[in-house]
Amino acid sequence: MTRNYTEDSTPDRGSTGLENMVPWVHIVGGGLSGLSLASSLARLGRLPGEVIVSEPNLDALVSKTFSFWFDATEQEFLKPEFSSDTWTLGTDNLQVTHQGSSFRYGTRTGRNVLEQALRAIDHHPQISVVEEAVHVQPKALHCFDSRPCNIDSFQLTQSFAGTEVLFDQPHGISQIGLMNEMQRITNGIRFVYTLPLGSHRLLVEHTDFTTVPSDFSTLKDLNSRYLEQHFDVSRFRSIRMEAAHIPMGFKHQSINWGTPIGARGGMTRDATGYGYRTIRFACHKIAKDLVKYNSTKPYRQLKMTTWADQLFLNLIKQRPDVIPKTLIQMANKMSPDQFAQFMMMRSPTDLIHMFRAAPVKSFTCALLGRYQWI
Ligand SMILES: Cc1cc2nc3c(=O)[nH]c(=O)nc-3n(C[C@H](O)[C@H](O)[C@H](O)COP(=O)(O)OP(=O)(O)OC[C@H]3O[C@@H](n4cnc5c(N)ncnc54)[C@H](O)[C@@H]3O)c2cc1C
Repeated sequence: MTRNYTEDSTPDRGSTGLENMVPWVHIVGGGLSGLSLASSLARLGRLPGEVIVSEPNLDALVSKTFSFWFDATEQEFLKPEFSSDTWTLGTDNLQVTHQGSSFRYGTRTGRNVLEQALRAIDHHPQISVVEEAVHVQPKALHCFDSRPCNIDSFQLTQSFAGTEVLFDQPHGISQIGLMNEMQRITNGIRFVYTLPLGSHRLLVEHTDFTTVPSDFSTLKDLNSRYLEQHFDVSRFRSIRMEAAHIPMGFKHQSINWGTPIGARGGMTRDATGYGYRTIRFACHKIAKDLVKYNSTKPYRQLKMTTWADQLFLNLIKQRPDVIPKTLIQMANKMSPDQFAQFMMMRSPTDLIHMFRAAPVKSFTCALLGRYQWI
């Protein structure tokens, strides 16, 4: 059920006749994590009480695409709409091409996430999405907070701008250009990401990992230049833009309203910004725990992952010049499936594969904090 409240209302529902009812669950934010949690709850049948999702701008999801690696057992749950078994990484003079055996790189549009979540929620009589921004912690037995954290709290920022174009004929690209034309820039590194979305649509994104958030218009201009250089401009037209600053680690904890979820709850990977897979699985687990035990624990990633990602972030901060070559070397030494598993950080074994593939000198110096010796 989707209800309309006055925009910017507080959670005081005095005028709605619900004043004496405290919801069982209140989810602040109906983006990826909020809707994942609500739709997982919707699939669990009769619930112990009312669930409210507060979201001022549901359509924000429509301008996003979510990509991730998955294996056959996860396809049904993660629901990729497009996928490829081949991805590339490169600099001006080094190139790696991976072809996964068990793993594919999949993409799901935000529109699809939104439509499927709302369909599940609309069929559930106890769950409502309310169009509102809340400004104080809502009263509920369980409150979940997915408000994006302030950019000032990011350790490093992944800034990107994507341009989706529609071709009048098949563009002929089937590989994912994961991190190509990697190069050092002031304050970090830059690369271009090319993602085929079917035979006629292509997303081109310039992405920076930097200590200072990058300017979107610069990144958009780079997309235009890239498209002009690689394709006949009369064959395509731009149909969608997406741009964002994603956290790569936090300097400090934010104050949460109840249990943090999504990027706020540490469900996006510090070293890469990938979050879709973790958010979907973690929110599903939270939903099941809530129904079974009427309690839940905040999401915690493996300590080893946090530690390894911090090492990588420090390396970007201190020696961005070595990152492109280091990543290519690691990708070269790992099998495509190991690389895919490592990028999703599925188990501690993935870290072992990463350390085996990592250039010894760079990582030893980084471990010792002697970046100047690299
Ligand atoms: C453009 C983009 C592309 C991405 N692509 C990928 C990808 O390809 N693969 C991947 O794994 N990860 C990707 N990510 C990273 C991550 O998966 C997303 O950031 C994901 O949306 C995080 O989910 P979330 O619920 O934490 O935040 P969001 O989806 O941003 O949801 C937070 C919601 O809270 C709402 N809100 C804010 N303040 C209030 C308030 N006061 N009251 C009520 N609601 C409020 C906002 O309107 C928003 O809808 C991408 C991120 C972005 C921004």
